[in-house]
Amino acid sequence: LREKSRGTADLAAKASPKLAAAKHQDEAAWKKNLCVKAAKEHSIPQDLNKVLENKVMETVLDLSYVKLSVVERTCSGDADSEGIVSKSVSSHSDLIPGVYEGGLKIWECTFDLMDYFSEAEIEFTNKTVLDLGCGAGLLGIVALQGEAARVHFQDYNSTVIDEITLPNVVANCISEGRRMGSGKDRKASKPPSKRPRKAEGSPDVLNKCRFFSGEWSQVSQLLLNSNKPCLKYDIILTSETIYNPDYYSALHDTLAQLLHRNGRVYLASKVHYFGVGGGIYLFEKFIEDKNVFKTSMVKTIDQGLQRCIMEIAFKNSC
Ligand code: SAM
Repeated sequence: LREKSRGTADLAAKASPKLAAAKHQDEAAWKKNLCVKAAKEHSIPQDLNKVLENKVMETVLDLSYVKLSVVERTCSGDADSEGIVSKSVSSHSDLIPGVYEGGLKIWECTFDLMDYFSEAEIEFTNKTVLDLGCGAGLLGIVALQGEAARVHFQDYNSTVIDEITLPNVVANCISEGRRMGSGKDRKASKPPSKRPRKAEGSPDVLNKCRFFSGEWSQVSQLLLNSNKPCLKYDIILTSETIYNPDYYSALHDTLAQLLHRNGRVYLASKVHYFGVGGGIYLFEKFIEDKNVFKTSMVKTIDQGLQRCIMEIAFKNSC
């Protein structure tokens, strides 16, 4: 996330008014950049083997995901849709130039939400689901395994969608012993190999998926204006996306525009994000002030940093 560079700017600004002005300009440019990060739909390549080419997979809770260090090495030196030209890749911010929002890593609240799905027996069957701020996309993949009718994935960064989300979805769709729809006995299957299996044809389950990158307000406009029918989502899943209060308005409006009137949002978050300022109570207050949604805290987790799961629904929903 952006904490490091912004923190450095704060210190510099204290030292000189010139730097303070530069910092101001930087922040304005950063905000502008946030507003104009265009939305894009990513098509699923015909040849799925290309999606998995050069990928090394790891597993967690019996789900496959791309090993990041290998993505870094592969992207190094290539120019892609986000203009990656760096020869030496030493960090995520080198891999993704410009604003990077954290989608390359699997954040711990993803696992909290996965636990909650099992405990609360959240039903995905025939539901239309959005994994908002998906990163690795594990939440959406679990929804696919639960026989959701459609699952859409969104991340801010297009590199994350191409290099992480799409390969993860493809790998889990084709992997041995884990046919979609068998999510409930995930723990029983044998560990998959690190090299992804070859894709033979496009598994039907992939036809249920769409992939989007871009800033939230842009993505919701793209969805609402698209020729393809955009059914509102029955379930929106979102983990570790409320760290920055500057995004609350865009996030709130996106949820309001895309959620079905009787739909539910399951939001997993740390109670407080030190250094960035966001957190669950601040977002809860933001929602309350807007008066569109009702919220309930359905789970709190006290090990390590305190975390929560919040359920959000329209005020007038059943
Ligand atoms: N949900 C994933 C997880 O739990 O592992 C990734 C969490 S990552 C910290 C935050 C995610 O929110 C990023 O993947 C990013 O794409 C998305 N995001 C944050 N701010 C955004 C914004 N303003 N517009 C669009 N996406 C945003």
